[in-house]
Amino acid sequence: MAAPLLDRHGRPPGVLRLSLTARCNLACPYCLPDDRDPPGLLSTGERVALVTAAVGLGVHSLRLTGGEPLLHPRLEELIAALRPLRDAGGLREIALTSNGSLLSAERAHALRAAGLDRITLSLDGADGASVARMAGFGASAAAPGQGDALLARVLAAIEHARAAGFDPSSGQLKLNSVIARGRNDDQLLPLAALARERGLELRLIEFMDVGSRNGWSPEQVLPAAEMVRRIGARWPLEPLGRPSHGTASRWRYRDGGGAADQGNGPGGSHLAVVASISAPFCGDCNRLRVTADGMAYTCLFASSGTDLKPVLRGGPAGPDAAGLSNVLAALWRQRADRYSEERSTALAYGASPTSTRPQPHAEMAYLGG
Ligand code: SAM
Ligand code: SF4
Repeated sequence: MAAPLLDRHGRPPGVLRLSLTARCNLACPYCLPDDRDPPGLLSTGERVALVTAAVGLGVHSLRLTGGEPLLHPRLEELIAALRPLRDAGGLREIALTSNGSLLSAERAHALRAAGLDRITLSLDGADGASVARMAGFGASAAAPGQGDALLARVLAAIEHARAAGFDPSSGQLKLNSVIARGRNDDQLLPLAALARERGLELRLIEFMDVGSRNGWSPEQVLPAAEMVRRIGARWPLEPLGRPSHGTASRWRYRDGGGAADQGNGPGGSHLAVVASISAPFCGDCNRLRVTADGMAYTCLFASSGTDLKPVLRGGPAGPDAAGLSNVLAALWRQRADRYSEERSTALAYGASPTSTRPQPHAEMAYLGG
């Protein structure tokens, strides 16, 4: 039997985050996407070849992301083409992260029918003004109304996904919220209430220093422990821990969550926090990221990627499967990234936030989170 593929810190690959576009219909200030894609976007066939090679090396979960992945016109076709990999058992799940604003009832059904297993929708506020601020709608008098409309679309998207069969009580439908101190930390309790009422697990994410445009500073990070303390003071929580290779620490509401009263199932009985800044989890990180134009990154904070296009486009009859597998394996073997842990140590010793970051620094909407 072949030796397991491990990186230089002994970590196996497990999750592939595949970005389908760097474009987005929103402009969240903590992310700041591009308004156009880079040249050389991968085709559906190239993406399938890439996922096939990654699964051959031990990747078991695929997360489709962006930019906004629902802007990808052939998303359902891609998922359907990947389905045999999942049906064969190597790939355990195909998941999607979306801002939800474009998720109609028809699209939710089409995604489910194509073979999508899980959707995480992102929403950073529970009222129009907060949603507008976090979605980058500016400060005009029209912004709160636009925020109300976006909030209504995301709330409708939750119900479309539920109706299409994404079951929150089995973790198939969740809510992501980025929390930044002084920007939307007043939304913690309203967002928790919104998720509890709808039977959804809420995943609170610390504002991260991905990219170089979002003006990150440590003062804007509300530590996950503080988020849990504030929510726990209203609805007592008990810790469940962080699963191995997981990004989120999970908590259970002692009262069972609000959903039981609403007939929405038990998904809202849990809260999760992603403490990538205050409690980094580099030690067992198993994520590989590939951008829409085929650049592979072994860390969200890596300074450079590896262009997979030469091997994806290398063979006369399409992707060079053996070459692709060799390149990915070599990339993984030399992986030594543990940037979040290094940042924590450097900041603890008084380093300035910008000096802790490798340069250049790829943007979040390009990497896909
Ligand atoms: N557009 C989709 C969405 O918003 O869900 C998918 C792409 S987005 C880059 C993936 C996730 O990353 C979202 O949940 C988003 O909130 C999160 N995110 C983006 N920038 C972030 C940052 N600077 N810190 C923490 N999370 C961030
Ligand atoms: Fe778009 Fe998602 Fe970035 Fe917001 S976080 S700008 S929704 S890609």
